[in-house]
Amino acid sequence: MRAVGLDEPVFMRRGAGAYIEDVDGGRYVDWVMSWGPLLFGHADPDTIEAVVEAAARGTTFGAPTEAEVELAAEIVDAVPSLEKVRLVSSGTEAAMSAVRLARAFTSRDRILKFSGCYHGHVDALLASAGSGFATLGIPSTPGVPTRVTEHTIVAPYNDVDATAEAVARYGEGLAAIIVEPVAGNMGVVPPEHGFLTALRRLCDGSGALLIFDEVITGFRVGRGGAQELYGVRPDLTLLGKIVGGGLPLAAFGGRADVMDRLAPRGDVYQAGTLSGNPLATAAGLSVLRRLRDENVYRQLERKGARLETGLAGHGRVQRVGAMATLFMTDEPVRNFDDAQRADTDRYGALFRHLLANGVYVAPSQFECVFVSLAHGDEEIDRTIEAVGSYHD
Ligand SMILES: *Cc1c(COP(=O)(O)O)cnc(C)c1O
Repeated sequence: MRAVGLDEPVFMRRGAGAYIEDVDGGRYVDWVMSWGPLLFGHADPDTIEAVVEAAARGTTFGAPTEAEVELAAEIVDAVPSLEKVRLVSSGTEAAMSAVRLARAFTSRDRILKFSGCYHGHVDALLASAGSGFATLGIPSTPGVPTRVTEHTIVAPYNDVDATAEAVARYGEGLAAIIVEPVAGNMGVVPPEHGFLTALRRLCDGSGALLIFDEVITGFRVGRGGAQELYGVRPDLTLLGKIVGGGLPLAAFGGRADVMDRLAPRGDVYQAGTLSGNPLATAAGLSVLRRLRDENVYRQLERKGARLETGLAGHGRVQRVGAMATLFMTDEPVRNFDDAQRADTDRYGALFRHLLANGVYVAPSQFECVFVSLAHGDEEIDRTIEAVGSYHD
């Protein structure tokens, strides 16, 4: 909230469909949607029913359940590159485990990430770029030893040359390239034509694994995520947010030969007391089963396009399907440096204006507007009107 010039966050007490209500009774059209998970909106009746039914049977067993196998099957069916999948409880955990697995599989230590991409608060991935093209990472928070991030290489997003140069330099020790196939954590930055294909080629050439972090894009830009949309096949994929239907559940998966290295079949340790938790798998299944209907993604695209058209002229709108960002700049945003040129003071003022007019967007310029199936034309048009009535 400090990023948008407020001292205190708004405390929420309930949500329904596209709306949330704060503790003082203020009602807002919500575009944060818990940072992405709520594809069917708040308090979606089908999800609630599934969770309540599951809870009545017991909330956790520490033993396998049929629902986790059914959810795994649903995920594998949806996401093209997944042959096997492991359920965990957060996107951070998925990223941490996938990095460990990639390092074990390749017997290498180095990881290449892109500045502006976020993969949860995994120590090794909390690295920022130094100065220069592609650099060894420096810790981006206290508490992360330099020794940990010095195995992390940071390159600019959408920059094939810089990435190729980094791979040429560190390729021998490179375990994986990890990327958000559509960046969502610096605001929406789509991959430029050929970027993801180039990453696939660089991995193939160096023996590194390609990890797509589809925690946001999974089930959002299409049922098969960004890998389906752009036709690029990663070795490992991270899923979170929508996959858990609003409960704490995430997943990582990919090539069977890589996943088979995981314990107990393989020798790479991974575990979690509440992994595949019955409440979370019930919520995930309730959501994922409905995504087989193609109409879901037609609707999301139509809603997203309506919002994009309405916001045009109030800044730069960047959108892929049901994720969008209104950047306070007129220039294209291709990477983190570009994103940082946006006028954050102006965004803060817009945020406060929208809040006062019953529209809740992310309290940061570097986040997404998350379109859900609960957002109707009325909510979209109200939002466009509220943005249009802002003048500095
Ligand atoms: C949210 C997010 C994560 C982290 O997920 P958590 O469940 O918050 O740990 C990882 N990667 C991306 C791309 C995300 O947006």
